[in-house]
Amino acid sequence: MASRVIPVAPFDLVVFGGTGDLAKRKIIPALFRRFVAGQFEEDARIIGAARAALSGAEYRTLAEEALKEFSAEYVENSKEVAAFLHMLDYVSIDATGDGGWEELKAKTSTDRVQAFYFSVAPSLFGALAERLHSYQIAGPEARVVVEKPFGRDQETAKALNATLAEYFDETQIYRIDHYLGKETVQNLMALRFGNMMFEPLWNNHYIDHIQITVAETVGVGGRGAYYDKSGAMRDMVQNHLMQLLCLIAMEPPAIYDADAVRDEKLKVIRALQPVAPHHIVRGQYEATDTAPSYRDDAENPRSFTESFIAMRCEIANWRWAGVPFYLRTGKKLRARSSEIAVVFKALGHSIFEGDTGPHRNILSIRLQPNEGIDMTVTVKEPGPGGMRLIDVPLDLTFAEAMAGTDSPEAYERLIMDVIRGNQTLFMRGDEVEAAWRWTDPLINGWEARNDVPKQYVPGSSGPEDALMLLHRDGRRWRDIKA
Ligand code: NAD
Repeated sequence: MASRVIPVAPFDLVVFGGTGDLAKRKIIPALFRRFVAGQFEEDARIIGAARAALSGAEYRTLAEEALKEFSAEYVENSKEVAAFLHMLDYVSIDATGDGGWEELKAKTSTDRVQAFYFSVAPSLFGALAERLHSYQIAGPEARVVVEKPFGRDQETAKALNATLAEYFDETQIYRIDHYLGKETVQNLMALRFGNMMFEPLWNNHYIDHIQITVAETVGVGGRGAYYDKSGAMRDMVQNHLMQLLCLIAMEPPAIYDADAVRDEKLKVIRALQPVAPHHIVRGQYEATDTAPSYRDDAENPRSFTESFIAMRCEIANWRWAGVPFYLRTGKKLRARSSEIAVVFKALGHSIFEGDTGPHRNILSIRLQPNEGIDMTVTVKEPGPGGMRLIDVPLDLTFAEAMAGTDSPEAYERLIMDVIRGNQTLFMRGDEVEAAWRWTDPLINGWEARNDVPKQYVPGSSGPEDALMLLHRDGRRWRDIKA
């Protein structure tokens, strides 16, 4: 089953930071895959723009090297490589200088879809936006794409929003959170709003609690010094986990369009309650015989930054009052695994004598690995001997269920959405600010208390205290497993 490809209009995409890590690892391979899939024609123009003094030919070599390294399709589709590279060009530009802008202007046209991808440090957003405007490069419909981190608190996010708003309308700004581009995340909306059987149960009458886990096995490694200024709350919770929480918790939008969906997500963020310090557990991974500790990686022996966080959150509205949302994310954990688990309440009474229940239905939405959904249901254990009940998963692994479907990866989908002008899977400015408004007091609180993160063993599920966070409530975390 080949996935249906709806071609996009001819476009000019300028990638500022086009020689950087993100461009090489994600943006260029994503564009290549979409080209191979037939989503755009050879009349598209993709222009790298960065400080390095490269010729167009040298940039195409750089892009080809990136494809060899980061795109498995490179070898299979070697015939398409030349046609793809033919669309690529390069302009040497310093965001804060005045060289190169006239050349860039000559290479793009306001008559087509124009997208400007700011794959550079946020401190350069203002300089880029101002020059795109003053050199009259960006047309009135032009789109800008910006990456995380979008600020480090509400104040800096507000300032970034204000800077972009000087030159671009909100409808032109695409703030990427690549979690929203994942197939399963969108399936979450299909599941909730496209089926009869879930939505009636989707509330505090039937749901006991919800767990959201994003676990990584890698440490902070080479980017430790950078990460140390951020930590798991800023790096993962404020954006990715909050977005997942919003999609789980939001009310059904009236229609499936960008503003309707984002209005509903914003309401969830606004209903999030402050989290008491004893409902937050922060951790740092220890050293092993062979691997450095978090503090070694961060090159900061007195670092109080967390590489792990677990928290118990509550949403104060009619649907969710009394239902805890447990969030957890960290580095160097047992397995690379991201999952949302919706744990339903246990039956109030069992008619089966000797049944050791309670049994719970659990809807698990796996983001990685093996994207898919499974639902734990209670059935009779096969064989004679009466009604013994067991819990078994009904598994829908997308790779098997949709065998042969070539599902685009997050960046592919998101970049094509930019070209199509669809903002549904991008964060709106007020959403990002509201998310910081919720996280800022929590971060300020532990900074003011000089809260020392708990140490945890690499390869574990995080600090012991994180287990206690649920034990205290008579619950337990789901296993972190690949
Ligand atoms: P990088 O350091 O690898 O590349 C930065 C790019 O910006 C280079 O092409 C460099 O030439 C260009 N640049 C730097 N200063 C410039 C200037 N004054 N004028 C013009 N160009 C300039 O960084 P990266 O990892 O590619 O990240 C880019 C942005 O994306 C950052 O904001 C980062 O936080 C964000 N991001 C990166 C990743 C990732 O996986 N790498 C993931 C999420 C977000």
